[in-house]
Amino acid sequence: MFIATWIPGGPLPALVAGVASHLALDAIPHGDAGIGHWVHSSPNHITKLQRLLPMVFVDQILGAGVFFLLLSSPLFHSIGFWTLLAGAFGSILPDYLTGIRDLLPKPPRWLESIHRLHEKCHYRGKEHFTILTGLIFQSLLVGLFILISFRVI
Ligand SMILES: [Zn+2]
Repeated sequence: MFIATWIPGGPLPALVAGVASHLALDAIPHGDAGIGHWVHSSPNHITKLQRLLPMVFVDQILGAGVFFLLLSSPLFHSIGFWTLLAGAFGSILPDYLTGIRDLLPKPPRWLESIHRLHEKCHYRGKEHFTILTGLIFQSLLVGLFILISFRVI
């Protein structure tokens, strides 16, 4: 949504910029590795779904809450709703595609290619976070951006 305020051209460039921002930010350690290992170490498909779907559900609710909160921010008043939605959607699209790929028994080749690109963008060094400290780090960043968007700081 922040990037969508700088990119001219409406929803499509905002969507592309959102996807690019996701891939760029994945290169920074952010504490998701432990969750990924936990999900991918599932002994079977049912357990994988039982681990993945509640997290996805909570993530979507929180993401939608932050999106609608930010819509009322003065920073975004001059930007169209569809542009902001496209930017926000683009920023989570790589994770949706990887999630769909993970759930399909035999994903199509184009989806595998996108998934491999997504994986290549991920930070692969020493993990600096536990799941808890990663969640705290990400929550603090989201809170900081909310405060900035409402010009509190
Ligand atoms: Zn990602």
